[in-house]
Amino acid sequence: MRIDFLGATTEVTGSKFLLTTIKGVKILLDCGMYQGKGLETDHMNRDLGFDPKEIDYILLSHAHIDHSGLIPYIVKRGFNGRVFCTPATRDLCAIMLPDSGRIQEADTVQFNKKREKQKLPPVEPLYTMKDAVTCMRHFITIPYGLDYALSSDFHICFCNTGHMLGSSAIYITFREKRKKKTLCYTGDIGRYNKTILPDPEKFPQADYIITESTYGDRLHTSLPEAEHDLMLVIKDACAQRKGKLIIPSFAIGRTQEIVYALQRLKNENNLPDVEIFVDSPLAVAATDIFRLHSDSFNEDMQEYIKTDPDPFGFQNLHYIRSISDSKKLNTYNRPCVIISASGMMEAGRVKHHLANNIENPRTTILSVGYCAPTTLGAKIMRGDKEVSIFGTKYKVKAKLASIEAFSGHGDYKELIHYLSCQNKKKVKIIFIVHGEDPTRQYYAQHLKDAGFQNIQVPDFRESIEI
Ligand SMILES: [Zn+2]
Repeated sequence: MRIDFLGATTEVTGSKFLLTTIKGVKILLDCGMYQGKGLETDHMNRDLGFDPKEIDYILLSHAHIDHSGLIPYIVKRGFNGRVFCTPATRDLCAIMLPDSGRIQEADTVQFNKKREKQKLPPVEPLYTMKDAVTCMRHFITIPYGLDYALSSDFHICFCNTGHMLGSSAIYITFREKRKKKTLCYTGDIGRYNKTILPDPEKFPQADYIITESTYGDRLHTSLPEAEHDLMLVIKDACAQRKGKLIIPSFAIGRTQEIVYALQRLKNENNLPDVEIFVDSPLAVAATDIFRLHSDSFNEDMQEYIKTDPDPFGFQNLHYIRSISDSKKLNTYNRPCVIISASGMMEAGRVKHHLANNIENPRTTILSVGYCAPTTLGAKIMRGDKEVSIFGTKYKVKAKLASIEAFSGHGDYKELIHYLSCQNKKKVKIIFIVHGEDPTRQYYAQHLKDAGFQNIQVPDFRESIEI
């Protein structure tokens, strides 16, 4: 079998790894979109490195757009196979991909205005909302733990990675030249001891592993500390400084973690008496999907919902759907918390809240996740004095805070702990992907120090036979 590393090699977006079996069957592990590099990203997304018509299957690890976001595009370009994933991943894709299509359409309108001024012909969006709805016909769901035969010599099994609702590692057993081999693609790996989702699950012994390294060089604080830190930030931002606290958050997963943390603080009387707004239609829809898949919660959360059937709803918490209600927050002058997507501050309603409040020194902006280096979020959080939002320059006068521990990705000790279910001598090669360089090299060294051998850090579009 050949593996082509077609994306998310030296960065954390654009996950795409193509497997070609000895019989010529082509299986794509994830079909993710590159994000956060502006016009450069558009070109990277259109140039796939393969012909979509030749792909037989897509195996999807989870619903995040950097793993699923190009599925509508390749369907539009002739892919006619099946997309296999867990039921929760399918349900999340059904809201996230159309939302991504809507963003593509809106971005293209803006882009074409610029092209018109340059007397250049208009371009088409990567895909539309309608394309995204159409692509959902290709999805087939498989529950966690089921050994599923794509053919007599190619089996797959999804193992929970606790990274987001429905997220999984894909464990593949295949036979070539009468030899059985195993490959585990870990997708993204979550943290341990989270509040909603279970710990990453062990997977059977693998000959080859393709694994992520987003935080391969960092350590996070523990989650109980993060909840305490969140309380301190809210008290400082809203009770002492009497301003707005803006929390740019990924609509799926992070937002529900934060809401549940606030619920717990509220139950313990540790929350200042301020209104909390979740202003993201996608987050509202995703929260409904969380409620649908309560069987995917961890044991603590299963216990909690016996006493409170709605862990994502409490007094003072308001979910905002309409644009008019969102706009009303611009003139809401009392201290409050606004949780709004996107987490990297590149898209979504959070950009409006930042534009309206970033020049106010009473505002606090709290980052709760990873921001890729070229994104607006990264620029604000690294301390740029001035940033551009919707083409207008704004001075950054807001106070900045960051709590990385809410991250959906494990730190390097957690990543190594996740791989400790393996007999290190039996793993033939570990391929490190989904990380910036030199983070991948640091992680490779951590793995060597932990006793793993033969670690490879593949280049973009490198092909390797296994
Ligand atoms: Zn992810």
